[in-house]
Amino acid sequence: MLACAVENNVPPAHQDANERTGTTWMRVYKVENDKSFPENRSVYLPMTCQQCDHHTPCESVCPQKAVEYDTETGIVAQIPVRCLGCRYCMTACPYHARYFNWWDPEWPQGMETTLNPDVSTRMRGVVEKCNFCHGRLQAARAKAALEGRHEITDAEYVPACAESCPTKAIRFGNLADAQSEVSQLSRDKNTFRLLEQLGTEPKMYFHSEQSWVRKKMDTKLTAAVKENVHG
Ligand code: SF4
Repeated sequence: MLACAVENNVPPAHQDANERTGTTWMRVYKVENDKSFPENRSVYLPMTCQQCDHHTPCESVCPQKAVEYDTETGIVAQIPVRCLGCRYCMTACPYHARYFNWWDPEWPQGMETTLNPDVSTRMRGVVEKCNFCHGRLQAARAKAALEGRHEITDAEYVPACAESCPTKAIRFGNLADAQSEVSQLSRDKNTFRLLEQLGTEPKMYFHSEQSWVRKKMDTKLTAAVKENVHG
């Protein structure tokens, strides 16, 4: 979460922010099987935008074309300067992966000097979300172009969360390449996607040999809709 915030210039939480109004492009959920000792188990599940591939819910409701699905990469982009802050996209997103900026971004004195110059900060009144560290993709493409290459390698473009994870629990790669590590992992019998029954074809896959994890997380996401987590 920290690597994501630093990479994408997500400011520290405003003093008046709470769980509903704070901004984070990645939220790590703790999921528990609700059993007593010694059968109790818990896992940590990082949630970002799931980069939906089919009838992308947030894109289809945006009146401003502030959400764009890139047919080349499959990345769902958010364009803050077009956003009017209606928050339809937040209501449409079944994964609660979008955040509304209730405050202008602020950093403690001196910390502004550490901001990533390749990523624009976002103003109050717009919605934002994970974009697979699009700034890194652009930088990798620019470097390749300078070197006369049309393609970038997998190693040249890795989002901050995957790069920083000390146990390599987050993997990133090209799902369109059937031979890539992520493609192979996505076909594993213990790999699943969240709320798959909705048919949004998310590009985020989760891997767990414990079958209750998927059920619990689907239930948690569905319950969050009922609780109206985003107000
Ligand atoms: Fe849009 Fe939410 Fe799907 Fe991301 S997870 S593409 S924000 S609907």
